[in-house]
Amino acid sequence: MKLVPRYTDIGEGFAISDHPAKVAAPQLLLWNEPLAEQFNIQVNADSRASVFSGNEPQAVSAVALGYSGHQFGHFSPRLGDGRAHLLGAISDDKNQLWDVQLKGAGATPFSRGGDGRCALGPAIREYVMSEAMYALGIPTTRCLAVVGSGETVYRNPPQPGAIVTRLASSHIRVGSFQYLATQGDVTSLKNLADLAIQRHYPEINSTGAQRYLDFLAAVISRQVNLVISWMRVGFIHGVMNTDNTLISGETIDYGPCAMMNQFDFDTVFSSIDKQGRYAFGNQPNMASWNCARLAESLMALISDDDEQAVAMLTPIIADFSTQFNQQFSTMWVQKLGLKASSYEQHNELVGELLGLLKEHQLDYTNTFDALTESLNGQSKIPPALGEWVKQWQAHTDEHSYQVMRQANPSVIPRNHIIEEIISQYITQGESEMLTRFFDVLATPYASHGQASEFKEAPKDDKNYRTFCGT
Ligand code: AMP
Ligand code: MG
Repeated sequence: MKLVPRYTDIGEGFAISDHPAKVAAPQLLLWNEPLAEQFNIQVNADSRASVFSGNEPQAVSAVALGYSGHQFGHFSPRLGDGRAHLLGAISDDKNQLWDVQLKGAGATPFSRGGDGRCALGPAIREYVMSEAMYALGIPTTRCLAVVGSGETVYRNPPQPGAIVTRLASSHIRVGSFQYLATQGDVTSLKNLADLAIQRHYPEINSTGAQRYLDFLAAVISRQVNLVISWMRVGFIHGVMNTDNTLISGETIDYGPCAMMNQFDFDTVFSSIDKQGRYAFGNQPNMASWNCARLAESLMALISDDDEQAVAMLTPIIADFSTQFNQQFSTMWVQKLGLKASSYEQHNELVGELLGLLKEHQLDYTNTFDALTESLNGQSKIPPALGEWVKQWQAHTDEHSYQVMRQANPSVIPRNHIIEEIISQYITQGESEMLTRFFDVLATPYASHGQASEFKEAPKDDKNYRTFCGT
């Protein structure tokens, strides 16, 4: 694996050199062969456990990155990689650098008393969920490997430990900008913004203040796109703190995430989200709020005069909701396969349908899948939707099936399936279910019929709870 250093030239204290701590008995549990091939990662099978646990030092020195974060609205100036080591970056076939990070490879200068370790359950969740999101076509970080550490991590209850290898187009977060802005380090802030532009938005060729205004606008467009894609498939991130918001617009950190079953905008599964801050339907508001925090952090690059900087940044932030509303409408038009002459009616149709879904506690994924297949004469639509369906069908045409099939997955990573896979790994060190699940996930938008075990929705998930993966 040819690694190059990353983030070491941003500024002092941004990337702190730190080595992964060795573990007792590394054992390779998951290996993503297609991803390894895509990035031409040639580490022979015998060495994978020791390389991707951090036991075998790499030619390039590993670093832990500093970042701040608004966690549930409260600002922590110094979070940083408390349980992650960035080994360096690898190049893809387009000469783009991708970060290779070990999560759970021991304490760092940012650990604040934490052990820097990761339990097996959250490691498996991160691998399976991120690969499922990738299969669904949603921007996401990827997982290359999960290695069992052969050690116990002391959680309640104690669990086997593991190390996840994460690949990301970058680990530049909103919190990374907050970190440098809080320290008043304008030179490093500019370095970071320029690196982010070069990596993610090379089309930006403006200069001066305009360059960073264009950068903010570009990040906003990606965040809108990301939240729309989450909502299209029923994904609830669960912990959209500014430190978990990537500038690239990829999904990162699969701690307390979950999929919505019965439709309800207020759905929350995270045990710590008592106020519903990150509820399914509140995700656009929170993404917009996070973008506003990015805007604040960029102020020093816009103008020396704070008032002027605010005046220039504010309309860009306001554009989040304009873009979101427009794309949210398009999303529903596609999910319902409406013909062009019926676009205008989408608000009424969607409003009525969502009201019925909520009233009758119908499953989000399966309902849209059934509506899609009904156009192919294949499926049974829930009786509660009978009248609405007659009305809706008049708004479809010969293109609707194809459009709907691309917008509505028939298989998603259901919470109970993920839990079963995790429990198989904990008790047996492997999961036969995961192999079958990945087979089905190869084509999540194809019709998988009614019978697939991965399609069944739980009757009641009101007591399902997810936890931050610490
Ligand atoms: P996360 O919930 O993964 O987004 O993490 C939030 C913050 O807590 C980050 O700064 C992490 O590095 C830190 N953190 C989480 N778990 C641990 C751990 N086991 N040891 C040290 N720091 C941790
Ligand atoms: Mg995080």
